[in-house]
Amino acid sequence: MAVELQSKSAFAIAQRRFDAAADVLGLSDGTRRLLREVKRELTVHFPVHHDDGSVRVYTGYRVQHNINRGPAKGGIRYSPEVTLDLIKALAMLMTWKCAVVGLPYGGAKGGVIVAPETLSLSELEHLTRRYATEIALLIGPEKDIPAPDLGTTPQIMAWIMDTVSMHAGHAVTASVTGKPVDVGGSEGRQEAAGRGVTYLTLEALKYLHVGEETPTAAVQGYGKVGASTARLLHEAGLRVVGVSDSRGGVYNPRGLDLAALDEHKRFRGRVSGFKKAEDISGEELLELPTTVLVPAATEQQITARNADRVRARLITEAANAAISPEADAVLNERGVFLVPDILANSGGVIVSYFEWVQDLQAFFWEEEEINTKLHHVITRAFYEVLHASVNKRVDMRTAAYVLAVQRVANATTVRGIYP
Ligand code: NAD
Repeated sequence: MAVELQSKSAFAIAQRRFDAAADVLGLSDGTRRLLREVKRELTVHFPVHHDDGSVRVYTGYRVQHNINRGPAKGGIRYSPEVTLDLIKALAMLMTWKCAVVGLPYGGAKGGVIVAPETLSLSELEHLTRRYATEIALLIGPEKDIPAPDLGTTPQIMAWIMDTVSMHAGHAVTASVTGKPVDVGGSEGRQEAAGRGVTYLTLEALKYLHVGEETPTAAVQGYGKVGASTARLLHEAGLRVVGVSDSRGGVYNPRGLDLAALDEHKRFRGRVSGFKKAEDISGEELLELPTTVLVPAATEQQITARNADRVRARLITEAANAAISPEADAVLNERGVFLVPDILANSGGVIVSYFEWVQDLQAFFWEEEEINTKLHHVITRAFYEVLHASVNKRVDMRTAAYVLAVQRVANATTVRGIYP
């Protein structure tokens, strides 16, 4: 019973993953105790005027896990599934993600319990501005820089930036990332997470010597990250045979016509029902016989329940915590190669970092330069993790955590926070 209860807590799972890395590193008890907790957690309740004249009270959070290596960085999620426990877990993941790719940031995450698709544009704007005001005491360019996540968009980031700027009395463009280019956003940010997933998938395929035939791919979650990943994998020469969203999936072994699928999704609001493919369930998508599987939807999609039915040779874990610790063990045993979440989806925060740097220096770069820099940072991190995995004889996830935790522990020690 205790095990079952624990496995339901996203934060307990995040701590369990940290503990595994701390064991490999032989981290001191004090540093371990410090790093396995979050530094700050803020809960806010705030009213929002709805178009029908009613006023509803919403709940939101902003959590900072660690700021020893620099300001906190992390997305804002709008979803009915948001809980403080989940936001704490995702904030901790952000600390390791920034550290594993060498960005000078700590980790944070925010969220509001809301289904954004049920709100009008004006309700969404009111909710965003109110939430931004409530968490304003924590955020800012030197303190904590939000970005988009599940259910949030560049427009929402622009409203947050505007709210922060109204309080300051001048434009504070570096206060959020993932903004539209018109207000200091970066070229290439929109598809940066998907581009990073693609670069890493190609590198892993090279390492696994899967170059000869046309590798196939299935992508779970056809949202911001999933759709751009599918398109970029296709452009890189892979055959994308299946994709899914929260309402089901589609499969065509000869490859999906992604441009036509985008049109269908825009019109119907879902991928299923697409004429040039067969409808499949979300569960079936994860079990397709592809070379690569990219879970890009939400947490806990591959668990002890279905891990033995996954047939892909490589998983690039685009969604945070898409795979449970129990499933990790099963996949490892079966020789499935994993690019773990903190590395796999780091393209988003890497280009967010570039956006922040550009805003601070008020000097903007061309997209080609950004993509080249992204490729450099993420590929270097991939090989660092791979070498750690081989040298320490640990799986890729543990290797990524070991590198990240070591860097945060070093910063903690050298600053004298915890000797
Ligand atoms: P999004 O809201 O744009 O898209 C999510 C997609 O997943 C939607 O199409 C939704 O229908 C689908 N989905 C939800 N539940 C599903 C299920 N059970 N089965 C299949 N599909 C399902 O969100 P996003 O920004 O693309 O984020 C996806 C994941 O990537 C999240 O874990 C997020 O934390 C992570 N991530 C996002 C970014 C970013 O820059 N947006 C960066 C790093 C990591």
